[in-house]
Amino acid sequence: CGIIGRVGDGNALEPLLTGLENLEYRGYDSAGVAVQNGSGINVEKRSGKVEELKSSIGEPLQGEVGIGHTRWSTHGPPTDANAHPHTDESEDVAVVHNGIIENYTELRERLAANGYEFTSDTDTEVIPHLVQYYLDAGYDSEPAFRQAIDELEGSYAVTAMVSGEHVLYAARRGSPLVVGMEDGEYFLASDVPAFLEYTDSVIYLEDGDVVVVDEDGVEFTDLEGDPVVREPETVEWDP
Ligand code: GLU
Repeated sequence: CGIIGRVGDGNALEPLLTGLENLEYRGYDSAGVAVQNGSGINVEKRSGKVEELKSSIGEPLQGEVGIGHTRWSTHGPPTDANAHPHTDESEDVAVVHNGIIENYTELRERLAANGYEFTSDTDTEVIPHLVQYYLDAGYDSEPAFRQAIDELEGSYAVTAMVSGEHVLYAARRGSPLVVGMEDGEYFLASDVPAFLEYTDSVIYLEDGDVVVVDEDGVEFTDLEGDPVVREPETVEWDP
């Protein structure tokens, strides 16, 4: 129901949790974050409020790149296991998703038949496994993400990261997603209020866009990888 992602210097945890609190108005039943500092992905997620998530993060998570999510369940009850972010088995790929993957049963059967083990009831969990499937097949991260997105049917806003990289990957079809830009710090969110404390300079994704964000900037492409031009704008927001 709400997505936040952040790439930059310093710890991502605070902007992620602020983003989740700012998205609370959209309603949700579970919340979670995943951060990485280049050597691995750490996930904290649970059913309930962002406040409860915050208090269950004992050792503060450290990492410059991260994603967060508030979930409004469509597939599977609001349990800790069904909360986002979802990962592949080895936690190499972490994904947050808004929307519904309509062909998830078919994708799940195919991936399970190839030995990928599922730990939730969600439609979303096919995405990290599908990206991992293409990484295992030798694809680089960006083409692996693009290929996985290309196979999804339904509606989605997706943000993903791959362990060891200072990069976020995102895509949208039918669910909103917006990039926020500040010097050396970038955000992805389902709605502008998520990061308004940090920046009011934004670019909205359009359906079919795939975006790669690192600390040097944002690259907009279509599903085939051809560049598309999206204009930045400054938002005025009355709180
Ligand atoms: N369909 C996904 C789920 O049930 C995402 C729901 C959402 O948009 O929060 O986990």
